[in-house]
Order: sequence, then structure tokens, then C-alpha cells
Amino acid sequence: MIKNSYVYGPVPSRRLGLSLGINIIPPKTCTLNCIYCQCGRTTKMTLTRQSFFPIHEILNKVRDAVKGRKIDFLTFSGEGEPTLNKDIGKLIRRLKTEFNLPVAVITNSTLLSDPKVRQDLYPADLVVPSLDAADQSTFRRVNRCHARLRVENIITGLKTFRRYYRGKIWLELMLVKGINDTPKHLIKLRRLAYEIKPDRVHLNTVVRPPAEKFARPLSEDDLTQILALFGPETEIASPTRQKHRQPLHQGDEEMIMAIVQNRPVTEEDLLAGTGIAPEKLKAILQNLVKRNKIKKVNFLNKSFYEPCQGK
Ligand code: SF4
Repeated sequence: MIKNSYVYGPVPSRRLGLSLGINIIPPKTCTLNCIYCQCGRTTKMTLTRQSFFPIHEILNKVRDAVKGRKIDFLTFSGEGEPTLNKDIGKLIRRLKTEFNLPVAVITNSTLLSDPKVRQDLYPADLVVPSLDAADQSTFRRVNRCHARLRVENIITGLKTFRRYYRGKIWLELMLVKGINDTPKHLIKLRRLAYEIKPDRVHLNTVVRPPAEKFARPLSEDDLTQILALFGPETEIASPTRQKHRQPLHQGDEEMIMAIVQNRPVTEEDLLAGTGIAPEKLKAILQNLVKRNKIKKVNFLNKSFYEPCQGK
């Protein structure tokens, strides 16, 4: 599907953008069958890339659809995995040349282990890949992947793509209550996000009717806690959450301890990651130091906080 995305700040997420109604793959053709999919269950699961529609037909439809509209971005997304269309590279190049517009691709990342797919996406201005699982068993549970897909190959594909791709990458993590939101799994996801080195990380949760009723959303408080764990380059993409930079009124100290226990952080990191007001943050940190919960250490002329041993 090609969409006209109106880009508000950190979006587009896979759920934003006005659809131009132009399919580049037949609906629900995908490499995954995610439990949270807003398009229902996958009807054609495949890893085989094809030319589903003639390129000139797609381009003609785009020409008609964009006439008279104000377009900010052309986004490939939709009811399935757009990189299954093996003409996507040509389409991106043709759209950029003809319409002089930035192009975004929203992908489930599963085919990024294929060098041809990575090359196809290089001309795009923005790629929004998703990664919901850090291990194969969670991958099976949340994404109900094609039998031949291995999450470790996808992660390697994402890292390789980052190494050569010059555009922006906004990594999206879709979190489902009780499925991929355990602290242990979130810490693994955070480590992977750090290793993949996207420009941004977007946390998302189930906000539209999912393929399976048991795919439940995380609460705003859950997301806020996870946001603090992930740190300053992370945002909440879920439209249910508008004020994600606001501080928690309760549990600020616990939130800071959870962050500090995972990695040494500066006061600036905590300011950006938690949204707590500077004076309040200072007071909490002083108090934690006084009670020997955390200590200040210097590294490369910067002050970091880390837990005191055994805390
Ligand atoms: S990858 Fe996207 S389209 Fe495919 S099943 Fe998952 S959510 Fe649906």
C-alpha cells in the first residue's frame, strides 16, 4: 500500500498516514501472522518476492491519487509486507524522481537478511523496521513467523542495513501485554536496539482491534516505565499516549533506580529519559546518594550514576 503520510513529529508509525489505496502486494500477503495485526490473520504467508502488479500501473495510480493533494511523504506500508514486492526498489527510485518527495518504507524487517532487499531500500529517505522479539520463542508467539524465519538472521540483517544505509531508521517495537513485555525480554530488546543503532526507537502497543483477542495493550504507566528503561532516543508512538514526556508523580525514585541498575547514566540522560523536572531530579539523586543506593562516578570528564554494590 502506498500512503500519503502527514508527518507529525515522530511519526509515521505503521498506523498513520492517509491511505492512497494503492496496493503493491495483495492484501494480507505477509511473512508473519502477528497476533496484534490490525488487518486480521495472514491469508498468504510467503517468503517469495514477486512482481505482483506491473510497475507502470502502480505509477499511474499514484499519479492519479496525488493530483491536487498536499503530500509530505510517500509511505510504503499496508496489509502485508511491502518488501515482498520485488519491484519496490524501482518503485522507490521512480517515485522520488517523478514526484520529488521523500519516501518512507514501513517493514517488518524479516527480509532484511537478503542483500537484494537491503539494496532496494537504500534510496528511501526513512525506513521504519519493526522488531518485537529478541529470541525465537517470543518471535513465534508474537509474530507467528514463517517456519523458515530465524530472528537472529533478521537482527543481523538490521545491523547490516544500518551499516550501509544513509537515511533515517526509526525502529518500532510493538509490545503486547504478557507476551513480549517481561523485564528480561525488554532488557534484551533494549540491548538489541542499542546494537542496531537506529535514529529513534518507537514503542508501540495494541491500539486497534487485533487479529487475536488475547493480544492486549500495555497501560500508559507500563509504557512510561519502559520508556525510562530505554532512554532518551526512545519515544512512544502509540496514539493513546500523547504526554509521554510528562513525569510520573509516583515511583520516580523506583524509575530512576531501574534505569541506573541497567547502565551508568548522566543527569542529562535521566532528564531526557524520565521527564522529571530538573530540581526534583537533583533532589532525588542527592537523596539516593546519601542513602547509599547509588554513587557518582567520573568517566571521560562526565559524571555518571551507578548503583552501589548489592543495591
Ligand atoms: S507484519 Fe504487519 S501486516 Fe504482517 S502480520 Fe504483522 S502487523 Fe500484519
